[in-house]
Amino acid sequence: MSFNELGLADEIVRAVTEQGYNSPTPIQTQAIPAVLRGGDLLAGAQTGTGKTAGFTLPILQRLAARKPAGPGTPIRALILTPTRELAAQVEESVRVYGKYLKLRSAVIFGGVGINPQIDLLRKGVDILVATPGRLLDHMQQGTVNLNHVEILVLDEADRMLDMGFIRDIRRILAVLPQKRQNLLFSATFSDEIKALADGLLNSPATIEVARRNSTVEVIEQKIHPVDRNRKHPLLSHLIRTNDWSQVLVFTRTKHGANKLVEQLGKDGVPAMAIHGNKSQSARTKALAEFKDGSLRVLVATDIAARGIDIDQLPHVVNYDLPNVPEDYVHRIGRTGRAGATGEAVSLVCVDEHDMLKGIEKLIKRSLPREVVPGFEPDPNAIPQPIQLRSGDHRAGGRNRPPQHAKPAGAPKAAPAKSAQVKSAPMKPVQAKAAPAKTAAPKTAAVRHAPGHSLTGKPPAQNRGSGRGR
Ligand code: AMP
Repeated sequence: MSFNELGLADEIVRAVTEQGYNSPTPIQTQAIPAVLRGGDLLAGAQTGTGKTAGFTLPILQRLAARKPAGPGTPIRALILTPTRELAAQVEESVRVYGKYLKLRSAVIFGGVGINPQIDLLRKGVDILVATPGRLLDHMQQGTVNLNHVEILVLDEADRMLDMGFIRDIRRILAVLPQKRQNLLFSATFSDEIKALADGLLNSPATIEVARRNSTVEVIEQKIHPVDRNRKHPLLSHLIRTNDWSQVLVFTRTKHGANKLVEQLGKDGVPAMAIHGNKSQSARTKALAEFKDGSLRVLVATDIAARGIDIDQLPHVVNYDLPNVPEDYVHRIGRTGRAGATGEAVSLVCVDEHDMLKGIEKLIKRSLPREVVPGFEPDPNAIPQPIQLRSGDHRAGGRNRPPQHAKPAGAPKAAPAKSAQVKSAPMKPVQAKAAPAKTAAPKTAAVRHAPGHSLTGKPPAQNRGSGRGR
């Protein structure tokens, strides 16, 4: 299958081919014709599947095919993303794939000055990529006009809901023209996503591509059991002895990310952190240096790392295991992209055994354990409760553990039950493991979901409104 066969214009195929992509990925094969047909779309796909081109290419084609007759350049496509990084990367894709077309795009997100964005919007934009919070700011100031939006994309919709953006999204939906094409991309399908989709989408084509957890075989995964206070020397040791040229390290909290950068620095391993408390310029700088190879170690929290798009990133380290099992799959999906091989290493201490159990349940395999000589964990170590966040208690904040996912070592499980792991270092504690969320079906299929009505009525939801811009 070629991009030409999908019905894409020569200008678009040329731009895609210049990127070195000769054949469409499964999500592209299905999403591109569906979007070109003009109907709504509900797509289950994660980062790393090629989903961005899956919606960008047909949107470019549809917009280029019919330029509005009136004066000016009204916004005709609106793409909402959860994070600044993802917004920037999506807009970069729009520019790259649309380089031979006469369409204008812009990206707006918080954390940077609003005035340059106002200028850009005033000049006219066909395709606007935005994070919900900053877009609302513009709406309130009257500096953006969404009256001509023909196509709406909610990218990583599950993340947007997790981050508490639902109210912002509803306020944005309320000002859009009723008649439009809606595309919803989500890695997972919670009840909230289904409710959002039901209210938003009109008889959508439904596409589900294999989750990364069934395609991560190209990624070599292993667990290094280690004591909690020996993680950072172990990481320095691994980076040095294996001579890792580039490694993305995940920590659970922003504070943990800062602390690790400091500790690695003392070990002579320069690193930078990206997370929500860093200024946009610091985040951009760290990301740019990491991308161009001048920064060897980038430490990130899950949210900040969303949308980091670096081809052939060889090493991902889970310095802390994520409290949501799906995040493990997202994290390791940073490596082994587009057919490249990669390695994902997790440093797991006694506190995290339940989390590991949840992850192994989700990916349906047991991960090999490899104790690094000199870093053998204490077999008598007692699990301690895990701090899930760096003192950021906004309602609806991303790091809030979901109701069903009880973190390992949570006060209820310790200390009586924790004693059961005393002499079995890698055996999960007896407290119930976090159940994995329902995984999207593994088969790739296109079908038309019957009977979704465009009610525009917000379904009940109970999330907070943390803006997390
Ligand atoms: P995404 O899922 O949109 O984040 O894309 C994941 C990665 O796949 C990005 O690095 C893209 O540049 C790359 N990619 C997109 N389309 C293709 C394709 N058809 N073939 C190979 N790689 C692709």
